[in-house]
Amino acid sequence: MPELPDVETFKRYLDATSLHQRIGGVDVESAYVLKGVSARELAHRLKGRCFECSRRHGKHLFVRVDSDVWLRLHFGMTGSLRYFQHNEQAPPHTRVLFIFANTHCLAFEDQRKFGEVGLLTDVDEFLKRRALGPDALDVSLPQFRKILEKHRGAVKAILLNQKLIAGIGNIYADEILFRARMHPATQISRLGDKALTKLFRATHDILGKAITAKADVNRMPKSWLLPRRGKGGKCPRCGRKLRSARIGGRTAWFCAHCQKKM
Ligand SMILES: [Zn+2]
Repeated sequence: MPELPDVETFKRYLDATSLHQRIGGVDVESAYVLKGVSARELAHRLKGRCFECSRRHGKHLFVRVDSDVWLRLHFGMTGSLRYFQHNEQAPPHTRVLFIFANTHCLAFEDQRKFGEVGLLTDVDEFLKRRALGPDALDVSLPQFRKILEKHRGAVKAILLNQKLIAGIGNIYADEILFRARMHPATQISRLGDKALTKLFRATHDILGKAITAKADVNRMPKSWLLPRRGKGGKCPRCGRKLRSARIGGRTAWFCAHCQKKM
């Protein structure tokens, strides 16, 4: 499921491939992903325009069109982007295809169709309406501390709550907690200043490094949990078997030896 590092990677990919090219047309292969806009209106609003720049907040990507409109992309469970030549075949799960006037296209592909494509005029207003917290990479240490101190519950559930901090999902929450050596079920109220600072540093470090690795598990450091997450996986630090538990409605993977409950 695309999280902040994946969406940031899509953003950079889109910036590197798809800006400043006249859009010749938009093909909607599956209207299921369209939210609050019809296929006809989407094509009408984008045709003859260019993508100008993009902006990411949490797991949302917004692409500014050279009019007063933004394209909104959310990647759901399996969404991604692919830029390719007209004469090549579109990826098999293409839902929306942006066809540029040059010889290329940009596909929004999404096998499981939980993704969203929409249009909006005011990004900040949208973020407010969704009540999203600050982006996990923009949040400062004092802000981070304040957000966490105000809430109760398991640390992992807090990290996953998009309304508190936006962008962290199940996989990276586990990685951050492994780095901070915190058990995912640790109650926030048990964390002192030092532990909160450690958690903040782990959050920035893991998300930053995951972006550098282009959110590709094959490029992740060997010392990370991510490549070993799952049944039979062993802790890269102590070699013991990883454990799983249901926390905050999701399956957490962790090392019970290295990540003690506080
Ligand atoms: Zn361990």
